[in-house]
Amino acid sequence: MNQSDRKKFHEMLLAKQTELQNRLARRDDLEVQVSPDEFDARLQLVDREFQSGLLHQTALDLREVRAALVRIEDESYGICADCDEPISLARLNVIPWANYCVKCQERIEVEKQQENLDERPQELVPSE
Ligand SMILES: [Zn+2]
Repeated sequence: MNQSDRKKFHEMLLAKQTELQNRLARRDDLEVQVSPDEFDARLQLVDREFQSGLLHQTALDLREVRAALVRIEDESYGICADCDEPISLARLNVIPWANYCVKCQERIEVEKQQENLDERPQELVPSE
C-alpha cells in the first residue's frame, strides 16, 4: 500500500469515526421521552430497545474503526491479522476497518458457525 492509499483510508476511517461518535452522542435523547399515554409509552419502550441494540452495534463498530486507526499509526494497516498477507484494496474500499483478508474472514465465520452448532443442546440435534 502506498502513501496516498494510506492517506485515503485514514480519511475514510476518521469520517466513519466522527459519524459513529455523533450517533452515540445522541443516545441521551432516548432517555428523556416519557408519554402520559400508556400505549405511546409502550411503543416508545419498544423503539428504545431497538435503538439500544443499534447503539450497541454502533459502539462495536466504533471500536473496530479506532483499532484500524491505531494500525495506520503503527503501519500494520492493510495486513491480515491472521496470515500476514496484504488485504486487497477492493476489500478495504468497502470495509476500511477490515482486519482480515477475505480468506481468513470466511474461515473465521465458518468456525464461528461451527462453534454455535457445537453449543446447541443435545436434544435439539436430530437423531438418525
Ligand atoms: Zn488472511
